[in-house]
Amino acid sequence: MYRIGIDVGGTNIAMGVVDESLKIIKKNSIKTKEAAEPEAMIAAIAKGVKDLMAEAGLKEDDIESIGVGVPGTAELDTGRIMYANNLGFEEVPFLPKLQEALGDELGSRTVFDNDANAAALGEYVAGGYKVPVFLMVTLGTGIGGGIIIDGKVLRGLNYAAAELGHMSINVEGCDCNCGRKGCFEDYASATALIEMAKAAGLPEDTDGEKFFALVKEGNETAGKVLDKYVFYLSEGLINLINILQPDVLALSGGITRAADLFLDDVRKRVSAGVYSRSSSKNTEIIVAKGIPDAGDVGIIGAALI
Ligand SMILES: [Zn+2]
Repeated sequence: MYRIGIDVGGTNIAMGVVDESLKIIKKNSIKTKEAAEPEAMIAAIAKGVKDLMAEAGLKEDDIESIGVGVPGTAELDTGRIMYANNLGFEEVPFLPKLQEALGDELGSRTVFDNDANAAALGEYVAGGYKVPVFLMVTLGTGIGGGIIIDGKVLRGLNYAAAELGHMSINVEGCDCNCGRKGCFEDYASATALIEMAKAAGLPEDTDGEKFFALVKEGNETAGKVLDKYVFYLSEGLINLINILQPDVLALSGGITRAADLFLDDVRKRVSAGVYSRSSSKNTEIIVAKGIPDAGDVGIIGAALI
């Protein structure tokens, strides 16, 4: 049997067929911009699922379940996305509409959850962590988070817990599209890093790969931008550790592929800044390791919902 995982991101909607050993045997991707309205997105996802099954030579009976990770608040009891700032969605009856578009057979096996919760759960399961408090912070278009306590996702009232990206780290800072100022994701997401790089004078076509290549070459501007980024990222992580005291804090997202260029600095800043700095045991900050390719975390996490 196979599961399909669908990761709805602010930039791409990635989907894949996942086998029992948690390997992706087939995947595809849709640009979110090209299916930005809820109805177009739902139709594109349903078509994507069917294309994927055809390419993998699978029939409906071969699919055990379909899981969708969505950015924002996934209301598990009604199937609505209550709010997703990066998609511009409010009160969208996402799951029932998607189930309808997929048809009775597949629709009845389709579930959804917040994308960062799904990714955290995927990492927790695939990585074999058995710690009481596990936190995953995903650095992508925005910042998502998942908090796992004693093996269970902390959902909170309204299923809206762990919106770590919308913790303000600068209350008089820049405007966030959630309506507040100075949110963590506006300073420490992958998008924020690239925006900082461009504002500092690096070329307009700078992306993550080009940016980290410049850092490696010893480009002074890129190095300074990365230092500033590490400062912001560390401040946010210190807040989270002070609140939760997780045993493990795993970082995920495409930019963690370049973690050898910044993770040690993050660890130094965080260990000097956390309230528990004098304690003998402190939070282990690592790059998510359960799912080897950072790009696959969202798909596999969604498949495990
Ligand atoms: Zn915000």
